[in-house]
Amino acid sequence: MAQQVLDETVKQAIKQFTEMDEKICHFTNILGLLGWDARTYAPKKGKPIFAKAKGTLSTETFKLSVSKEMGECLDTLSQPDVFEQLDSETRACVRERKKEYDKSKQIPSDVYNEYVILASNANDAWEEARAKDDFSHFQPYLEKMIDMKRRFAEYFGYEKHPYDALLDEFEPGLTVEKLDPLFCDLRKKSIELLNRIQQSPRKPRNDIFNQNYDVEKQKEFAQFIIGKLGYDLDAGRLDETTHPFAMGINTGDVRITTRYEPENPRMAVFGTIHETGHALYEQGVNSEYEGRVIRRGSSFGIHESQSRFLENFVGRTKEFWTYFYDDIKAHFPHQLSGVSLEEFYRAVNCVEPSLIRVEADELTYNLHIMLRYEIEKGLIAGDIEVKDLPKVWNDKMMDYLGVIPPSNRLGVLQDVHWSHGGVGYFPSYSLGNLYGAQILNKVLQELPDFYELIQNGEFMKIREWLRENVHQYGKLYTPAELIKKVTGEDLDAKYLTDYLEQKFTKLYDL
Ligand code: ZN
Repeated sequence: MAQQVLDETVKQAIKQFTEMDEKICHFTNILGLLGWDARTYAPKKGKPIFAKAKGTLSTETFKLSVSKEMGECLDTLSQPDVFEQLDSETRACVRERKKEYDKSKQIPSDVYNEYVILASNANDAWEEARAKDDFSHFQPYLEKMIDMKRRFAEYFGYEKHPYDALLDEFEPGLTVEKLDPLFCDLRKKSIELLNRIQQSPRKPRNDIFNQNYDVEKQKEFAQFIIGKLGYDLDAGRLDETTHPFAMGINTGDVRITTRYEPENPRMAVFGTIHETGHALYEQGVNSEYEGRVIRRGSSFGIHESQSRFLENFVGRTKEFWTYFYDDIKAHFPHQLSGVSLEEFYRAVNCVEPSLIRVEADELTYNLHIMLRYEIEKGLIAGDIEVKDLPKVWNDKMMDYLGVIPPSNRLGVLQDVHWSHGGVGYFPSYSLGNLYGAQILNKVLQELPDFYELIQNGEFMKIREWLRENVHQYGKLYTPAELIKKVTGEDLDAKYLTDYLEQKFTKLYDL
């Protein structure tokens, strides 16, 4: 559209909005660093004291995002004729801040305070319930939490299903109506494929990993791999935590953590590659977006597509291990002596129904997500009651994976998400796989030598493709817009189901 002259009021609103946006970003960057510190090296005694300072800064940040001035700027800038004239970056920032503003305004502040306290208590109760393997200890808290989330859904509003309002927090624009057919297709094909795999006589050698792998050597290897993959160590660092994560403090400081288990080197190797995928995304966002709300990833699902792309579509390929096998053998000559590359490759791709989501393989992982999605939807719609969860959980585990957890600790109590109020989050993980596979299909068209590049260790070309097509845009586009821009199509489950079919048919001689 032709550039029009913006009147003074609008110019003033843009200036004021941009300043507030930047201030919120600065506070958020500091809060991010505090969060990283609390999850890594902060001394135990200082944590609760510092938590108060963090609380003060969070409150100030929140107040600014819902301030009268912010409301006025957003009112001016989101008028259709004004909005149209803004540059695309400012439009995206207004879209994001307005969404945040509207949502915050919809929840009465006393209800929100109640929620924050509930989340903290529910989290403590969950930890205790899990330690004691006693679901009844968590049940009343979870009942209150689900009730609270249903109220949130009413405050936020929705067209068809109350769960849509919660999904939208993690995957803007996504609804049950769009998600059901995608997941249904993925679930059916995954179960069918799993059944065939289980009947295959070709079983990988699992004993390879059941021995001691020196943790110091694992650390060395993890450092070596992330550098090769294009992670910029001048713009980040790798540390150790129980629950690995990636955190983008700013575009020049994106940190990752990992966990080393002596008896399970796969945890550190694939966990590190996964977090590197998240980190490459945030290191790759256009640096001019620094100080603006759009400097982060488009959505949880798109973020997860980047971690899973690296972990699975790059890191679990035969070509990847062709390139790295001598290196990993040099680190663990004793453990891997007599193990061929083929055996190693098959072992890192072993498919086996298991009880714990975070330890699941590439195929069965999505079934763990489907189960949680169905349960969350049922809880929010009122079709499932919290008290019945252990039974519903175990029944679905049997239906989808053919295994029944021997305890609630290994079943319904395994994930932290619900205790925090993170209802609507789980689908992001499988969406990441779906988006990732569709992006892979596009990469293969544009980089026909993709697997050769991996085999030759030329990861920078792959990183550059992702940076140019996905990473640089940050939150400029909504997830639906981005997947369409990158691949030319709406999200379609066939790319992931075809990929899984091809990969495992070959691996298991189906
Ligand atoms: Zn992730």
